[in-house]
Amino acid sequence: MDYLCNMAFFKTARPYIIAGPCGAETEEQILEVAAALASMNVQLMRAGVWKPRTRPGSFEGYGEQALQWMQAARKQYGIPMATEVAETEHVELALKYGIDVLWLGARTTVNPFQVQRIADALRGTGIPVMVKNPVNPDVALWEGAIERLEKVGITEVAALHRGFSGYTPAHGYRNQPNWPVPIELKRRRPQLPVFCDPSHITGNRDRIAEVAQKAMDMHFDGLMIETHPQPEKALSDAAQQITPGILKIILEALVVRGEHTHDMSGLEQLEHLRQLMDTLDAEIVDLIARRMELSSKIGDVKRMCHMTVYQPARWREIVDTRSTRGITQGLTAEFVTELYEKIHHESIRIQLGMLDA
Ligand code: PEP
Ligand code: MN
Repeated sequence: MDYLCNMAFFKTARPYIIAGPCGAETEEQILEVAAALASMNVQLMRAGVWKPRTRPGSFEGYGEQALQWMQAARKQYGIPMATEVAETEHVELALKYGIDVLWLGARTTVNPFQVQRIADALRGTGIPVMVKNPVNPDVALWEGAIERLEKVGITEVAALHRGFSGYTPAHGYRNQPNWPVPIELKRRRPQLPVFCDPSHITGNRDRIAEVAQKAMDMHFDGLMIETHPQPEKALSDAAQQITPGILKIILEALVVRGEHTHDMSGLEQLEHLRQLMDTLDAEIVDLIARRMELSSKIGDVKRMCHMTVYQPARWREIVDTRSTRGITQGLTAEFVTELYEKIHHESIRIQLGMLDA
C-alpha cells in the first residue's frame, strides 16, 4: 500500500470502525472473522499476535505464524489488517507480512523509551499507527507518544481511548473511562482522529453498545470493538468480545450525530462540567466530615465543662452568619438555613451520643 498517497487514512469513514478478535488464535478464526467483517461497514480488522498479559502463563499470542493467517485473510477478503507492536522486532515482522496499520498498546505508550525505539523502527515506512492511551490518565504522555511518531515522519496517526487502570473498577467498567482525558487530547489536537475502544473500557460485552454510543455522542471519530466467532471460548478477553452478528446489530443501532467541530459540543461540555462538579462534591463531603470531627471535639469540652449540648444562642449565630454569607454568594437564606439545620442536627446527635459514653 502506498501510505504517503493515502492522506487522512483514518478519516475515510466516520465513524471509522475497527473490529476483530483480541488475539489471533487459529487460521480458521481469522478467516471467519475477516469474511464476516468484509461484508460489513468495517474499515479495518484487528488481531493481536503478541499479547501483553498482566501475568505470565496466559495466552501470549502466536506471533509470526498468526501474521501469516492475517496475510492470507487480507488476500482473500481484501480487508486491511492491524496488529499491536511492542518491540522493534514486532515492527519488522508486521511489515514483512503486509500488515496495514500498527497500534501501540497502553503498556507501551506508558514507556517513552520503548515508544522511541518503535518510532525509530518505523522511520521512513509511513505506515498508519494508532496510539492507545497510557495505562495512567496522563494526557501529556499520550500526546508525547504521538509526537514521537510524527517526528519520524508518520503522518497518519490516530489516538485510541481504552480507559485507564484503577485500583477499583469505576461504574462497573474494567477500565475507568475518565472522559475528560481524551476530550482534552481532542481539544489540544482538533485534527487528530480519536477512536474509542469500548471493549477494553467495559470489559463486558453487555455494555459495549452503551459506551460506543456515548463515544459517538462525544464526537469520537471511530470505534475499535473486539469481535470473535465464539467469544466465550476466546483465549484472552473472553468476557468482552462479541460475535460479528452482534457487532452488526450494534453498528446499525448507533446514532451518529453531526461532524466534529472545533468547538466543544454540548455533551463534551456537560462531561467536563460534571467532572468539575464531582471534584467539588468530593470536597464538600470531606469538609463536612472535618466539621463533624470538630463537632466531637467541641462535644468533649462541653462534657468536661458540664455544658448543654444544644446552645440556642450559638445556633442563632450560626444561622445568621451562614445565611448572610450565602446571600452574598447568590444563595437564598431559606436554603442555607435548611442545609445548616441538617448539619447542626447531625452535630447534636454526635455530641449527645458522647454524653452517654
Ligand atoms: C488489546 O487491544 O487487546 C490490548 C491488549 O489492549 P490495551 O493495550 O488497551 O490493554
Ligand atoms: Mn483485548
